[in-house]
Amino acid sequence: MSLAPLPFIDLQAQRARIGDAIDAGLLRVASHGQYIMGPEIKSLEENLKDFCGAKHCITVANGTEALAMPLMAKHVRPGEAILVPSFTFAATAEVVAWLGATPIFVDVDQDTFVMALESLEAGIARAKALGLKPVAVIPVDLFGQAADYDHIEQLAAAHGLWVMSDAAQSFGGAYKSRKIGTIGHVTATSFFPSKPLGCYGDGGAIFTDDDEMASLLKSLRVHGQGSDKYDNVRIGLNARLDTMQAAVLIEKLKILDDEIKARNDIAARYSSALSGYVPVPLVADGNYSAWAQYTIRVPARKRTAIMAALKEQGIPTMIYYPKPLHRQTAYRDFPVAGNGLPVSERLADEVLSLPMHPYLDQASQDRIVKTLISVIKAHH
Ligand SMILES: *Cc1c(COP(=O)(O)O)cnc(C)c1O
Repeated sequence: MSLAPLPFIDLQAQRARIGDAIDAGLLRVASHGQYIMGPEIKSLEENLKDFCGAKHCITVANGTEALAMPLMAKHVRPGEAILVPSFTFAATAEVVAWLGATPIFVDVDQDTFVMALESLEAGIARAKALGLKPVAVIPVDLFGQAADYDHIEQLAAAHGLWVMSDAAQSFGGAYKSRKIGTIGHVTATSFFPSKPLGCYGDGGAIFTDDDEMASLLKSLRVHGQGSDKYDNVRIGLNARLDTMQAAVLIEKLKILDDEIKARNDIAARYSSALSGYVPVPLVADGNYSAWAQYTIRVPARKRTAIMAALKEQGIPTMIYYPKPLHRQTAYRDFPVAGNGLPVSERLADEVLSLPMHPYLDQASQDRIVKTLISVIKAHH
């Protein structure tokens, strides 16, 4: 008898736990009727600030706008360059191109998957050699783990760059004693449903301790508004988070710490069972990952067969990401650091993410591990 297939992410398990409270929050919004910038927005922003310790929180419509708006606030323009990893989701580089600036692609570390320092340094040199002015770096906390911020911030300071953390996958985690949301000049996160803190649609937030940046972001969020709604002092956007989504997030934030702990327990069990069979993700000292994904590596030429064999036994897997950005049609003409990005290219061929969510029970974890080990042995 074969077992039922497992879900890759189980959002329904969380509904079983807090669905009633979320539905009550949604109904409250439906009845008070302040669908745009209702009271839940302010409450959520307060709660998010308390949670991570940032001075300002500006909720926005999605994670991509959360990344773009700080660039707008900083007047990023053509002729400027921003260093981004190639092994990430497209939004990280997309927002740089929106403003006419040049994304410079940087390689990542093969064990932690986050931005590699030497490559960052080479990228800064490449920007200068091309006559561009490097102004910022956007490290990505890929799969939930913080980038190597102490070293990145040192290098950034030495070259006069500001740092925006792409924390779309890491909110809820920590770097050394600092919670995600308090690192770099500004932090952008996403509340897309499958992120560690997700809503019931699109959503995002920006965190900063910089008062001027915060007030610019609030203005940009509503069409560059000045002293009142019909006073427009700069070119802005409509980038507000829906009140309904804020109501969902208020309830979900209450259990985020508990859920991140559960993800860490699952990751620890995965790693202890799987190390020796496959390279398991390395968490750098002092990092507390939000484990948006649990990602192993398998031999490139066997990956398709391994995925198919797992699927046959009801174990779904995903590839994040099958193509590094510098190899994508839309981005292939932008510069890369040094003589290419060999790690990003290799990872794209080798990575495999296993089911990961806070409600993955031990029996399912054991089934995933046992099946994976037998499939790996069979494909040796
Ligand atoms: C999801 C994600 C984004 C974009 O967030 P959206 O809310 O989907 O716009 C940006 N960067 C990274 C690394 C992401 O994973």
